[in-house]
Amino acid sequence: MMRQPTVHELLEAFRHGDTDPVENAHRVIENIARREGKINAYISLEDFDSVLEKAEDSRRRWMRGAARKLEGIIIGVKDNISTSFLPTTAGSRILDGYVPPFDATVVERLQKEGAIIIGKTNLDEFAMGSTGEFSAFGPTRNPWDEERVPGGSSSGSGACLAYGGCNAALGSDTGGSVRLPAAYTATVGLKPTYGLVSRYGLIPYGNSLEQISPMGLSSLDVALILQVMSGYDPLDATSLNVNPDVVPEGPADPESIRLCIPGSLVGMSDEPVKKSFYSLIDRLTGEGASVDTVEIEGVEKALPTYYTIAVAEAASNLARFEGTLYPSRGDYSGDYWRFISKSRGEGFGIEVKRRILMGVYVLSEGYRDEYYLAATKVRRIVRDELARITKKCFIATPASPVLPPKLGEALGDPLKLYAMDAYTVLANLSGLPALVVPSGFSSNLPTGVQFIGGKLTERSLLSLGMLVEELTGIRGAYAGG
Ligand code: GLN
Repeated sequence: MMRQPTVHELLEAFRHGDTDPVENAHRVIENIARREGKINAYISLEDFDSVLEKAEDSRRRWMRGAARKLEGIIIGVKDNISTSFLPTTAGSRILDGYVPPFDATVVERLQKEGAIIIGKTNLDEFAMGSTGEFSAFGPTRNPWDEERVPGGSSSGSGACLAYGGCNAALGSDTGGSVRLPAAYTATVGLKPTYGLVSRYGLIPYGNSLEQISPMGLSSLDVALILQVMSGYDPLDATSLNVNPDVVPEGPADPESIRLCIPGSLVGMSDEPVKKSFYSLIDRLTGEGASVDTVEIEGVEKALPTYYTIAVAEAASNLARFEGTLYPSRGDYSGDYWRFISKSRGEGFGIEVKRRILMGVYVLSEGYRDEYYLAATKVRRIVRDELARITKKCFIATPASPVLPPKLGEALGDPLKLYAMDAYTVLANLSGLPALVVPSGFSSNLPTGVQFIGGKLTERSLLSLGMLVEELTGIRGAYAGG
């Protein structure tokens, strides 16, 4: 397999003078020049001269022994995370021309440690989608197979990582949005424990479900990025008052690993996905890990529960975009209602409109109890079940029940599209951390395995990820093209 350097390897090489941040920046820029036209992973890019200048500054810092934790590392940031130096569109026309007056906390923290933000990555509009095809800026293609999707909604973050257009990336994960792209692009994505990462500056979709989430070319890279971006932030009222060390010392000892597999849920997967999943599980047990099958109460209702809660929160969140301020879409002094209906009608895409309609419906008088309240009750059951199970084991599932679909293939049928999230939404409903790492390739298409852990078990999850990488040999995978 073709390889590209991981963040960890780059930092080591910078330290030893084997390469430097300027060389790294040139390589990344070349990859962008070569692939971006076709892949469409970025919505906006920094001026390359200024990227090279920053890289030169980083190079000097390494030389004089003043390097910070991520000195010279190049990062792509999902375009629903606020940056004061680049427009932030959330993949939507309604935010055309909007440049936030502030940086998200995570952006500020990464830059403070010497990371260089190279651009804003493509996404499904307002992060609503599983394939990347609902972006107002056109779909992103999968660098492993350009006829296929890279997974969504953090489509650009996964794609630019795989083709070498960044060293690491940020996404957001409300129901699986970094984990599906990770699975479909042979990269690593972690949805942290709810509250571990500040959401300040994230354009909200489903506040009670989502976390800004790191993506990388290895579990260790994800740990290094998470270490810098996580921790208490007074600007986010849901931020946990903790600053744990999330960087593992090395791969987990397989003998210490206990896995629980929700058998019937995994049974829903397509054959090649199941095959790749169970062959990885066999390798882990071959090394001494123990595996049990479990049934999780309420698990078959997790998906509709997630979508009920997500659309309700989305409808409320999106009410603020009416075209007078964020940014203004024209003169609203005349008929205000007509004005906002026009700007929302023109500004939002089809899927966002569908979510708003569903959200308003499930919250409406007469249906609220039947849908929204019922969903919050099922959510509690699922959450308690998962908390109980993850006390004794990591829950293992495939990341997605299907291989990356062809462009257009999943679009016709929203229910089929939503079904792609069957495994990932569990972690969002429960607030628990979940890691996706590559499990292999099936007919040259990447597959991913998901592990869900107990609250704040990021470090052990990531050491398990490192173990899986040892077994598969997939680390720093490069969709060279
Ligand atoms: N596919 C899911 C949705 O559309 C999850 C998206 C996300 O995690 N942002 O809601």
